[in-house]
Amino acid sequence: MEKTNCKYCGSELSKVQMPFDSDWGVEYLMVCLNDDCGYYSRGWDWMMNNYKVKSSYRYFCNTFTDYEGPLPVARPSDYKNEVIV
Ligand SMILES: [Zn+2]
Repeated sequence: MEKTNCKYCGSELSKVQMPFDSDWGVEYLMVCLNDDCGYYSRGWDWMMNNYKVKSSYRYFCNTFTDYEGPLPVARPSDYKNEVIV
């Protein structure tokens, strides 16, 4: 069964197209693109505190392999133009 909601903020996940040659090896990932998501908003501070880099990550679920985890982003707009509707 496909998980369609973010386990951190409850928002509906967006189907985000992966680049053809990406390491993911899948056509798309289900990603939480909610900018108010606590997981994502806390990520900026976490990455700065731990790695001194200005980046964050969004919750994603790979429905092909049932794997879930953090998808690194460098800008709030990352992946938002790749949403499949
Ligand atoms: Zn979320």
